[in-house]
Amino acid sequence: MNENEAREKMVALARSLYERGLSGGSSGNMSMRLENGWLLTPTNSSMGSLEPKALSRMDDHWRHVEGDNPTKEVFLHRAMYQARPSARAVVHLHSTHAVAVSCLANTNPADVLPALTPYFVMRIGRLPLIPYHRPGDESLADPVREQARTHTAVLLANHGPVVAAKSLEAAVNASEELEESARLFLLLQHCETRGLSAEQIEELREHFPIS
Ligand code: ZN
Repeated sequence: MNENEAREKMVALARSLYERGLSGGSSGNMSMRLENGWLLTPTNSSMGSLEPKALSRMDDHWRHVEGDNPTKEVFLHRAMYQARPSARAVVHLHSTHAVAVSCLANTNPADVLPALTPYFVMRIGRLPLIPYHRPGDESLADPVREQARTHTAVLLANHGPVVAAKSLEAAVNASEELEESARLFLLLQHCETRGLSAEQIEELREHFPIS
């Protein structure tokens, strides 16, 4: 995929998330690894109306070289790529159900969402909760980097999910799987639930390893 195709792809996938209510207002951002740098959604932009030429272009050293200024949450993206050299895209949303789960008290911070379906195990695996940091506090990058070494996605407390994957489509799909899993989890609160067993989860990890 050349850079123009990458730009068109980012605009189309961002619009799709916006139109389906997964990134309201100017919330949410995404990034892609290019041959010689990075492409990011700009700061204060709506995912519903991005312009391919206005996307923020960074060089190999994360210096802004072209387009509008990048999202203020650029440090989250950088931390994910530093921890996961195989990642080629990162998606960060403030999607309602995932944020709701990030606000629940008494969850297990090492494993915040139960494995209710195989697809959650195949696309997300285990989801750790990162403690709350105020918006713009770049010290959030440290715990994100630490957890991302062994997890493809993290959930920021009282904020939202950050998901890395091998392509932008895969990162978007995994973000949607996370959002739907959060919705299922909330729907099933106070219901007697049969989640996947430890054996079933292990079998999935063997057959569908997350890299
Ligand atoms: Zn955010």
